[in-house]
Amino acid sequence: MQTVTSIGEDALVRRLTSDLPQDESVIAGPGDDCAVVAGPANGRHLLMKTDSVVEHIHFLRETPARLVGRKAMARVVSDIAAMGGQPRHALITLIVRRATEVRFVDELYQGIREIADPIGINIVGGETSRGDTTVVSISLLGDVSSARWASRSGGKPGDALFVTGCLGGSIKGKHLTFEPRLTEAQWLVKKFPVHAMMDISDGLAKDLPRLAEASGLEFIIEESVIPCSSDCSTDQAWGDGEDYELLFAVSPKTAERLTREWKDQFPDLLLTQIGHLVPIGSGVIPTFQNHGWDHFKRGA
Ligand SMILES: [Mg+2]
Repeated sequence: MQTVTSIGEDALVRRLTSDLPQDESVIAGPGDDCAVVAGPANGRHLLMKTDSVVEHIHFLRETPARLVGRKAMARVVSDIAAMGGQPRHALITLIVRRATEVRFVDELYQGIREIADPIGINIVGGETSRGDTTVVSISLLGDVSSARWASRSGGKPGDALFVTGCLGGSIKGKHLTFEPRLTEAQWLVKKFPVHAMMDISDGLAKDLPRLAEASGLEFIIEESVIPCSSDCSTDQAWGDGEDYELLFAVSPKTAERLTREWKDQFPDLLLTQIGHLVPIGSGVIPTFQNHGWDHFKRGA
């Protein structure tokens, strides 16, 4: 019997989305960090994203509610950032047990607003229900210049691949406290021709092949240069996931200028070139044991 676990997350999503009818107002449908649809005015596209955090999967029962709310909002902001966009309006669906203390929900919203308020995100509605476990689901609408936005699919052969920050070990705390790379992504898209970009949510092991595949390419990485969080091996950095750093591809010529200007603009955030995109058939499969996060199975 086929189960969602036996086929895995990517195959499940493909099965559900491969034959959906879409008219010409859909610019990028399922398969990127956000959906991109035509905006009401020329010059801007709308970005749509929905995402959930679920108790036992994305946080534990004892996780402080403020951090749960923070994570739920930061994850969707990270996806709007991955397109080079600006987050605007949010809907929040909250499922809690009957016995949940009101204080838990208050603190959860504190965390949500800790991320949303400084960015100017309007929380414009939502839904509440009781359930057997706690789930926070956030839908976020954003927008982006129709002339300058980044998908996963625009990578070109020879492009340099970069990651921000350090990877691995987010389970020790970063998965709850990370800062979405919104300012950095907007700066990148505004200043440079970014061919492809995404945020790393399921680990480089899962997300880099997704970016390469969306671009119709493969990749070669230099395993020893992957930036590791403290106390992490490169194997963990490759596959742990929930880093919420940016992964992007630019031409080799852009890479030189970008590396110089990045240091001036973001002196406290590491930027590392980890490899490059290559044509199909020329890629090299890394030797790591850690295969990244799949929502229906751990590793593969
Ligand atoms: Mg993403």
